[in-house]
Amino acid sequence: MTQSAQNRAPDGPAAPHPLPRLPRGLPLIDGQLVEPLRPDRMVDTIDPSTGRVITQLHACTIDDVDRAVQAAHRCFESREWRTMRPLDRGRLLERLALLVEEHREELARLEALDSGKLLNVTRAIDLQFTIDGLRYYAGWASKIAGEYVSHSPLVPEDAVYRAYTQRRPVGVVAGITPWNFPIGQAIQKIAPAIAFGCTVVLKPALETSLTALRLGELILEAGFPAGAVNIITGHGPEIGTALVNHPLVRKIAFTGSTVTGQNILASAAQTMKRVTLELGGKSPAIILADADLDRAIPGAAAAIFANSGQICTAGSRLLIEAPIYDKVMEGVCDIARNLKLGSAFDPATQMGPLISARHRSRVAAMVEAGLAEGASAVAGGCPGEGDGWFYKPTVLAGVSSQMSVMQEEIFGPVVCAVRVDDAADIVRMANDTPFGLAASIWTRDLDRAHLLAERIDAGTVWLNTHNVLDLAMPFGGHKLSGLGHEFGNEAMKSFTEPKAVCMRLEARGLV
Ligand code: NAD
Repeated sequence: MTQSAQNRAPDGPAAPHPLPRLPRGLPLIDGQLVEPLRPDRMVDTIDPSTGRVITQLHACTIDDVDRAVQAAHRCFESREWRTMRPLDRGRLLERLALLVEEHREELARLEALDSGKLLNVTRAIDLQFTIDGLRYYAGWASKIAGEYVSHSPLVPEDAVYRAYTQRRPVGVVAGITPWNFPIGQAIQKIAPAIAFGCTVVLKPALETSLTALRLGELILEAGFPAGAVNIITGHGPEIGTALVNHPLVRKIAFTGSTVTGQNILASAAQTMKRVTLELGGKSPAIILADADLDRAIPGAAAAIFANSGQICTAGSRLLIEAPIYDKVMEGVCDIARNLKLGSAFDPATQMGPLISARHRSRVAAMVEAGLAEGASAVAGGCPGEGDGWFYKPTVLAGVSSQMSVMQEEIFGPVVCAVRVDDAADIVRMANDTPFGLAASIWTRDLDRAHLLAERIDAGTVWLNTHNVLDLAMPFGGHKLSGLGHEFGNEAMKSFTEPKAVCMRLEARGLV
């Protein structure tokens, strides 16, 4: 990529915000930044706040996938990697954490430019989550443990059996990530893979590969062994599929849409690859009549409008108990109408753009379908102004469970509001979608809060808050929202497999 080509407008002046330092744009394969085998295949990457081209990225090919997987496999099999002390794998992650910390502002700006996420959010949330994630998994590397197992021989004999289990790394991991939390998601694949002794090939979303490419440079600087981490950029259906089908890949750690996840699961069946799928959602924010509305109303609005609704756990269905329906609607719509849309770099901006023109068209088409089916837009319901891919914060009322807007993930700043009457109605409505990722319940009544939480079919339920993730809490989806979990002890289980070792010891009078 050439600096002169960076951030040129297709037909206009230079970008309004200063450019952060851009990475060299080369894939990381086998411990080197390398030219792909077809260096002529380039794709524009666009600033969603302005619609301008930032730079061009390499679209790697299937042969590059093979190079990266072979390198990861060589490293995994190497004596150096197999015998590396767990504490030293942890130190690699710690060194990377220090480098990310050192380059925190640069990475936060790069992420804001590439994804349209607000700079104050990438600084405070994305980079903090990335650094915390590296440190969290660095600590895990030396805490992997098996078990001693009591053994009962079938036939009595003058011998004893002793058995234990080990947790062994699964092997080469393919990490495939979406565009809504680019650097954070990259680390959610790389850090546990390294901590638990695997090696990894990361394929970030093509829309937002810049921070992953910069991470690749920092990984080199941190001194990771060649092939331990490989990063390739390109089209999902082409190189993502090739990764999923590669015989040397043993696990796929995927975050993205349910449709892609379903295809990956079907393909992985051929080779019995281990799969974790973190997929889409249609999560309810449930406001009960006794809730503290001063917290619940802004909380429900943030649940859907944060990151322009592009959060898998976004509170995209708002279930409001009848006595407070009008008051909550008034409050949430008021916030929606007054949010300031704008560039990721403008400190006054409260909501940024969607990721791409294509995605904005998709969001608009889904809202149009809802309106055609009888919903009404009480706030928003159309694209916002400006060169970027803005869509107005939207509140839909008059919706029913049969409508597509209530069943399908929109992944934009669009919430469907529904009046609910009693506990049975709340549980029925909350569970009435094919997804089961998350939910929030807003109430002062602890009995109702805990008992309702038990009835909601979701991987995470928040009480009086929404979208709070923690690396120590298992994260995953029920139903079409996914398979398996990330974070905490669950990550250890999904990047390792138990191996049972059984031995026969001659008793010789010792027992
Ligand atoms: P996507 O499924 O289109 O793409 C995700 C990744 O998969 C990208 O890297 C893409 O290039 C790659 N890909 C595309 N087709 C592929 C194929 N056939 N084989 C292998 N890889 C392929 O999703 P997206 O539009 O980038 O992201 C938005 C989706 O991600 C939403 O549905 C959102 O809910 C979901 N998401 C889920 C979580 C979670 O943790 N549950 C978190 C963030 C986003």
